[in-house]
Formats: sequence, structure tokens, C-alpha cells
Amino acid sequence: MSHSCNTSTHESAFSAYSANSLGSLRLRAFDRKGRKESARCSQRRAHRPRHSSLARFLLLAICIAPLKQPVCAQTTATSTAPIQYTVTLADLSAHKVHVTINLAPGASERDLQLPVWNALYQVRDFSQYVNWVKAKNREGTALPIRLLDKSRWRVSGAANGAEIEYEILAMLPGPYGAELTPKHAFVNLAEILMYPVDARSAPVQVRFHAVPPNWKIATTLEKSPSGDFIAPNYDLLVDSPVEISAFEETDFDEGGAHYRIVVDADRGDYDLGKLVPVTKKIVAAETAWMNDRPFRTYLFLCHFPRDSGGGGGMEHAYSTAIEVNAQVLTDNPLAFADVTAHEFFHLWNVKRIRPQSLEPVDYTKENYTNALWFSEGVTNTVEDYILLRAGLLDENQFLHRLAGQIEELEDRPAHLSQSAEESSLDAWLEKYQQYWTPQRSISYYNEGDLLGVMLDLAVRDVSDDKASLREVFQWMNRNYAQMGKFFPDSDGVRQAAEAVSHTDLESFFTKYVAGTEQIVWNDIFKSVGLHLIRQPETVADLGFSATRTFGSQPVVMDVRAASDAERAGLVEGDSILEINNRVASSDFQERLGQLHPGDTIQLKIQSSGRQRTLQWKLGSREEIEFELKDVDNITPRQKARRAAWLKGEAQGEARP
Ligand SMILES: [Zn+2]
Repeated sequence: MSHSCNTSTHESAFSAYSANSLGSLRLRAFDRKGRKESARCSQRRAHRPRHSSLARFLLLAICIAPLKQPVCAQTTATSTAPIQYTVTLADLSAHKVHVTINLAPGASERDLQLPVWNALYQVRDFSQYVNWVKAKNREGTALPIRLLDKSRWRVSGAANGAEIEYEILAMLPGPYGAELTPKHAFVNLAEILMYPVDARSAPVQVRFHAVPPNWKIATTLEKSPSGDFIAPNYDLLVDSPVEISAFEETDFDEGGAHYRIVVDADRGDYDLGKLVPVTKKIVAAETAWMNDRPFRTYLFLCHFPRDSGGGGGMEHAYSTAIEVNAQVLTDNPLAFADVTAHEFFHLWNVKRIRPQSLEPVDYTKENYTNALWFSEGVTNTVEDYILLRAGLLDENQFLHRLAGQIEELEDRPAHLSQSAEESSLDAWLEKYQQYWTPQRSISYYNEGDLLGVMLDLAVRDVSDDKASLREVFQWMNRNYAQMGKFFPDSDGVRQAAEAVSHTDLESFFTKYVAGTEQIVWNDIFKSVGLHLIRQPETVADLGFSATRTFGSQPVVMDVRAASDAERAGLVEGDSILEINNRVASSDFQERLGQLHPGDTIQLKIQSSGRQRTLQWKLGSREEIEFELKDVDNITPRQKARRAAWLKGEAQGEARP
């Protein structure tokens, strides 16, 4: 990827960052009564059709990213000889990839580590996919290699160099996966490539073998004259996902930078002519909002699968991987814009404006951070401001989505017991279904999104409208990212907000970021002339709740006793494959939310390897819907403040 050996002024600042990426996941859950989604992680909600307040969906995209400091925590020795990888697409149908690693002469005993996590903030133990590992010396004689722990191997007799070979299955679909099929390969390289523990900072070369003749390769990795892809070190290598397929590609220039859009999907399922203008508006709005463009080229890798329930995005320093279900792409004009605006903004927030706690990346265990509320949640905040500025969202839609976020948070009892920081630290528990219950957890995407708005309004208030969230981000970009420094998690955000507002914000951070104080919404929105309305609404009673994690199919979490869902045979733990004959995808909560009392619901279910179809008629129940409305007697000052807020700009000049 271009971040490798770049010499441009812009990019050189990042040439040393180590990057890693975490991915994105999207999950959604809805409450036990069945309707709203409480989602957790997620990134972006689809445009919520309002009547279904339930339908917000979120996906989350997490990600980790670049760092600008030499990384390599685990590098104990220095090696400058390049590590050579050969990745052979050995058996497309069986998802088999063969990897050889050529180690230069060095120590006799060398350890090789396969990361236990990457892309998602989840330990996924990629070594479960390793079928076998062998080693030999330069003469072809077998060398002893033994397993030290579940993800680390030690080869002996490697003083004169060695070749490590292994077979690994690439069968994780989605933007944070590594997948080889007869249709394509899409790979987050950390999920298939081991690294020599003593040479994580050594330059790397990667060559792909047995690529089908009509397939092309798309990645931001640089190419050497010999045709190998190269990176200055392993961390930068694995921040560059690779698509290998018969993809379609287009490109455009905007503001002096070059953008590529690569799409691997059925040609009839998307229209490049529609994706380009949306993407162009978003990149123009974000680079202007940040007043920065720390790259010369940027790559969007897009998948629009028909049959996958997956979706979401995964950010990288110079690219992003985006997946939207083909039907969702067609039905929901905002689905692509949402994920694109979110992932693109990550090139600053989390990739360059990066919490210290995520560095250096520890591939052997969790990197705990209390700042995902900011890195993910406030990325959601900015996403909506950007969509407003780009003309892709209007004020009513914006306020509707915001009210939906408030409703989602208020509907989870855990908002009074789990803070935004604790939710960030607990991200690693999101792979467990129990963690998603409304009593156990809130989502740092959800609460962080609201904290971004609250911090924005607070900074405007105490700075007499001379600063806003935009100035906070630009300050962090100047004082951390562009200085090659990481920010000290929540304290760093507070430092930036205080610097641009010239005010002590301890109370805000103590109450809302580290604490769980009940938020008084009407106080929050008073300055912009809004108040929160709670009104009863009659909605369909599903009788069950479901959640979806990591791009998998939704899973039934709870079935209410004596409900029609129970009588129809729905059981906790069932996977939902289809809802009313449509794939249950990232918008499944939204789909459920669009059902009305009296409608018939039909679910295709899978459990214990057996599929069955259930059907029943939906009853009704009351729930409270939240809306943000104008206060009575709104003043010109409130109107002016709201206008500035919705533009994402301060009213006056920011103080230095
Ligand atoms: Zn994200």
C-alpha cells in the first residue's frame, strides 16, 4: 500500500506507523420484546425509516490502524533482510492457501507467530485454520519445527536461513476476513501470514501464485520492479487488504488526490455510475471538514454479495473494504453512503488519530482501550455531519436518526451501569451472545455517537460558539497525528476539547465518559432549540429478539413464553436465514421493524444443521418512540446555533 515506502510529504509522516486493523463488525440486537434493535456495535445505522424506530442498524466497524511510530513491540532482534512470502491459491473450492516464508540467515532457533486477532476487536485464533506446518533448510532438508502455544511455532537449525511452509484455510468472508473461493480471494493478510517474532519490523515481500488467468489483484501495497508486493514491515503489510478476482474498477480525481473504486460483485447488482458521485461527495466533504488529505491515492474495495448476511466495513490507512448486501444496496440508498462516510473518516480517526492503548498492536492477545467510544462512536457522529454537508441526508433525517440513537441507549438498562469507557474495554466480549443482553451492555458505537454530539454542543456552549467538534478533531490531527504521536485515550480527547474551548471539561468526562450519569436530554439540546418527545406507538409484537455479530446470520436470543413465536416453534439459538423470503442481512432489524400488527412473518431457520420454515401472525404492543422537536418559542439565537451545528462548523473563528 502506498503507506509503505512513500516519499511524498504527506505520506512520509506515516511511513513508520505500524498499522493494523481491526475490523468491523456489525451486530445488532433488539430488545426482548422484540423490536428494537439495540445494537451494539455498529456502525452505521441504515437510514432508519421512522416508523420503525427499531430499525436502526448498526454495524460497526472497528478498526485499528496505523500508527506512526515504529512499532513492533515484539521485535526483539533487528533484521533488515526481507521476509519473503509466497501465497499460493492452492485449491479455490476447498479454500486452501499454501504459504511459504523464506527466512534469511540468522539465529538458529526462530519463532513464528500467527496473529490471534486482526481487523475485529475479537480474538478469533486464526491458527484454527492451519492444517499443517513444515520447515526445511536451503538445501531442502527438513528442519524440526514444533508448536509452542496454539499460535506460535519454533523452527530449529535455521542459522543459514529456512523455508517455512504451511496450509491454511481462507474461509472467513467479509471485510474483516480472509476468504478464497472459486469466485474471488479477499484477504486481510494478518489472518493467513505468520511473522517471524524476531523480525516483525523487517521489510516484507509478497508474491501470489496460481492466480486464475482472468483475475486481477487490487491492493494499496507497492509493487517492486520484480513484481512482488512490498511493505516496510509486517504491520504495514497487514494494513493493506488484497482483492484478487475478475473485479470491475473505476477511478476519479478529487481535490488533488486519486481514488479507485474496485467492485467484486455480480454486474447486475450495482451501478458504478451511481457509486462514484456518492463517494466523491463524501471524500470532498471529509477532506474539507478536516482541512487535510494525508494521502495521494485511496482505494475502496467493495463487495455486494447476494447471499451473505454479512456487511460492514473495515478501515485501513489508505483503503477500506466495504460490504453491503446486494438487496440492501438496491433498497436503501443510504446504505452505501453510510458505510463509506464512516470508513473513510477512520483514515483519520483511529488510523492516524490513534489511541495510545492500541499501540503497539499485540497480535498474541487483546489490546485493551477505553477509547472506542471516540474512535468508533464519534466516527458515527461525524459520519452524519458529513452526510448532511454532502447533501446526502437532510435535517429531518438527521434528527430522526439522532432520536433513534437516544432511544436505543435509553432502552438498555445497562446505560446506568456500564460507562462508555467500560463498553470500550469490553469490546472483546462482543463475540459472546450473553454480553449483548440489554441489562449487560451498551454499545460504544451508540453511546459514543451521542457523546460526539454532546461534546460538540458542550464545546460550542463554553466557547461561545467559537469552537466545535470540528476544531477538536483538527486539533488532535495537528497535535497527535501530524506529530507522529498517539493520543492518551479519553484523556487525550478531553485535552483537545479543553484546548479549543479554553474551558475545564472534567465534569463532562467524569459524568458521561467515565461515568454512567443519566443524561438530561432536554438540557443537552436546549441551546439548539430542541427537546425530546416521547410518544406511545403501537408496533408489531414479534415475541422474540435476535442479534447478529461479525457478519454472521442473526441468532435468536430470546423467545417470550406463551408468545406466538414460541407456539410457532422458534427456539433460542436458532439462526435466522431469511425473513419473508429475503436473506437476513445487515438490515434485518430494519426489516423486522417494518412489519405491522396483523402482518404474517415467515422465518427460514437453521438449527443443528437442519432448516425449517416457521410462520405466524403478528400481534401488537405499545412502545415509546423518541423524537427531537422544536421547543416552543424558539429564539433566533437557538436557530442560528442549530444551523451552525448542522453544518458541522463553529459560528465564529476558532480561537488559536
Ligand atoms: Zn468504525
